[in-house]
This record gives sequence, C-alpha cells and structure tokens, in this order.
Amino acid sequence: MNSALAVALAAAVAWSARRAGALTGRGAVAATVVGGVALSAGVPWGAFLIAWFIASSALSRLGRAAKARRTDGIVDKGGTRDAWQVLANGGVFTVCAAVGLGAVWLSPHVAATPETLRELAALAGAAALTAAGADTAATEVGTLMGGTPWSLRTRQRASPGMSGAVSLTGTAALVVAALLFAALAVALQLVPTARWGIVAWAGVAGAVADSLLGAWMQGRRWCPTCAAETEQYRHRCGTATQRAGGLDWITNDVVNVTCTIVGAAVALRLG
Ligand SMILES: [Zn+2]
Repeated sequence: MNSALAVALAAAVAWSARRAGALTGRGAVAATVVGGVALSAGVPWGAFLIAWFIASSALSRLGRAAKARRTDGIVDKGGTRDAWQVLANGGVFTVCAAVGLGAVWLSPHVAATPETLRELAALAGAAALTAAGADTAATEVGTLMGGTPWSLRTRQRASPGMSGAVSLTGTAALVVAALLFAALAVALQLVPTARWGIVAWAGVAGAVADSLLGAWMQGRRWCPTCAAETEQYRHRCGTATQRAGGLDWITNDVVNVTCTIVGAAVALRLG
C-alpha cells in the first residue's frame, strides 16, 4: 500500500482507539508508526495487525470491572496501552513488516530471494503477534475465570494478575488463542495454510517463555504497609514499594517483548 495512505489509515485507527480508551496519546503515536509500517508492507500485514489489536483490546475489556477488583493493587498498568506497551507487543512485528517491505533492497545482502525473505518475515511477524495475543488471552481469561492461580516460582497459591501466576483456565486460553490467532494470520493471507501449525506452536512457545520469565526474572516489589506483593512502584495505598526479588529492569514490557522475540525465533527455526 502507498505509504502516505498507510500512515493516514493507521493514524485514523489509532485515533479511534485512543477515543475508545484503548490507547494513551503516546500509545496512539506509537500505534500509528507500527500500523503505518504494517499497512505499507501490504494489506495482509495491516489487516492482521488491526484484527489482532481489536481481539486483544476486547480480551482486555472482557469483564474489566471484575478483573480490576481481583488485581487491584497488583498490576502496574491498566487496560489503556501506552507507547511502551504498544512497542513491546508490536515492535518485533514492525521490524518483520519492515523487512518484508524492504525485501528487494535487503535480498542481495542476505543471499535470499525477495520472495523467500518476504515469506520468512511474514512467518516471524505472524508468530510474534500470535505469541503476544496468546499471552494476553492467558492473562485476561485466567484473571477473570481462572480461580486462584499457582505461582510457577514458589509453587504456591498466588494473587490473580501476578506475573508468573498460572491457572489451568489461563493455560487453556493460551493454547486456544494461539490456534485462533494463527488461523487469523492464514485467513488474512499473511501466511500460507501449510504454516498454520508453525505459527500456532511458535505462539505457544513465546507465551510460555513470557510466563517463565515473568515468574523468575521479572522485578517483584513489596508494600511494607500492606505486607503484600505487587508490581506497582507506588502501591494503591500510597506507599513507595521496595524491591523484593527478580531483576528491577525486567519490567512487564521487557517480558512482553521477549515473548514476541521467542515467538518469531521459534517460527523461523521451524519454518
Ligand atoms: Zn500498600
């Protein structure tokens, strides 16, 4: 698609998402960049991105009030995505779209035909967003309907919404979502039918990596006033929280971008 038209269309979609409360102002700017590159790369790229965004926003809104009650005081960011969240979820996909877009120029440098390069970029991009979507589904459905989850790290009961907390319902949602997002990538002709399974498995692998990294490596914080574990730097009670384990720089956004990198890498390995 013509790039000027692509950016205009992406800006229109991002603006309506901002009006609907799905994106912050800067989140809408980041989404315009991500969407502009995707639509420039071709209609299948743009269509898959928009469908993915609608589906994951819908998952975030699913039972929002009930989830907010269950995760109050634990989760750092709410349902409105900021620029970092947009890039954490969509950055790898955007790089893949850019590779697809520039396949003709890149091809002499990597000893692959432009067609091969485009196919691999589409496979990796589809897997990156499938992994992010599967992780979102696991978190949102698990938080809403998963009962009391287990912590992968301590193997004890954990609070709903904590990173690395898993439930059977959330895990089932993860697998179903990976299958569905991969089917969407096929239906929108981003990847051929024969590669549906690869995209789905890569999506599962990325989302599982997300849970493992969230459980063991992500920075954990502690509110001394409430004697409660949290991901917030300033707890809902107003107290500045203390480090309680994990690595401080491994935030939820770092975990999410890793999820999409693992998804893309596994797809390329299998493809
Ligand atoms: Zn507190």
